[in-house]
Amino acid sequence: MFSPVTISRFQNIETPFYYYDLALLNKTLQACKTAADRYGFHVHYAMKANFNPKVLTAIQSYGFGADCVSGNEVKAAIDNGFGQDKVVFAGVGKSDREINMALDADIFCFNVESIQELAVINELAKAKNKKARVAIRINPNVDAHTHHFITTGLDENKFGVNSWQLNDVVDALRKYDNLQFVGIHFHIGSQITDLEVYKSLCIRINEMQDWFEDHGFKITVLNTGGGLGVDYHNPDTNPIPDFEGYFKVFKDFLNVKPGQEVHFELGRALVAQAASLVSRVLYVKNGQKKNFLVLDAGMTELIRPMLYQAYMRIENLSREAETGSQKSEVGSQTSEGQSHISHLKSHILKYDVVGPICESTDCFQKDVELPESFRGDIFAVRTAGAYGEVMASRYNLRDAIGSVYSE
Ligand SMILES: *Cc1c(COP(=O)(O)O)cnc(C)c1O
Repeated sequence: MFSPVTISRFQNIETPFYYYDLALLNKTLQACKTAADRYGFHVHYAMKANFNPKVLTAIQSYGFGADCVSGNEVKAAIDNGFGQDKVVFAGVGKSDREINMALDADIFCFNVESIQELAVINELAKAKNKKARVAIRINPNVDAHTHHFITTGLDENKFGVNSWQLNDVVDALRKYDNLQFVGIHFHIGSQITDLEVYKSLCIRINEMQDWFEDHGFKITVLNTGGGLGVDYHNPDTNPIPDFEGYFKVFKDFLNVKPGQEVHFELGRALVAQAASLVSRVLYVKNGQKKNFLVLDAGMTELIRPMLYQAYMRIENLSREAETGSQKSEVGSQTSEGQSHISHLKSHILKYDVVGPICESTDCFQKDVELPESFRGDIFAVRTAGAYGEVMASRYNLRDAIGSVYSE
């Protein structure tokens, strides 16, 4: 929800841009920290969700570690104050250069995704006379009940090693002297809103750690990955994810043995609600079948709706500023308010909200119900703090998108 002061501030800024609500970001980080600390859990922030320097500085200040998926992310994490002893590094395609960089940085742990990768890390560590700490990323074949584009923990996915390969994994671990095995790692998908899924994951992790111990391997790190979802439909009434409920599932169902650490890798849940994409209407096109609103932002600034068929709430801030928000209108009991509602309702229209890019897929959402909208109206696409700014591109030679911060 944007205050009238914020909306009038937007009027004077060139669009499009990402608007960051730093107060909400801090509240979210504090809520996660409090809930994780209750059980002594370790949280690594998944850098790929958002690497805006101000966001990283805030996250780092709460003492979270970093979860990286490229050498440059490892470097950015360390440059932004995340201690190297709290950096984990996953990814199915780590290059030799990236592995060497992470070895030089003495990161906490490589989350290794194949047997061949174990061999390569061992060889590169040997050349440096080092021992690399490794956890095995296991594909637990747990269905995340999320969109198939963002599920990662099924046998058909490219990530991790599958359970039938584990005998070869332990053979490799016995053979390679420059690896120190620390534990097992999982990450089953993203935007998971059904906490039962994590219960299934815990059961699989318990089986897996027993298997390793039966084969003579001591496990100190249980890394459960990330994926906790956010409420894209109700960003104002449900701005902070249920971290308490999430961690409690692991407390209740994960069999944590003495000396073991439980690690998490949260991206979206920490940053998604803290930003909106702010844009202006360039043109209103009324067709015979469709009304289009052409915004000055498109898939080059925010690609989630086009790439993953993701729903994101779209609001006309200019009309809300004029008439009060739709929600408070509906709740209003005064007769004046009532007449206002009918006035508003008569002006609700359906629009396809599209961007300016030369691709038909460049559409944020079809048939959005909005107050009648006009050229120059300010729009917000909500819950855009995760996988938004980081996926922006210069396609069509567009300007790089900037950011604006709450005071
Ligand atoms: C992307 C990713 C995460 C974070 O996922 P979210 O859905 O943003 O929480 C965690 N771990 C790994 C290995 C990842 O690739």
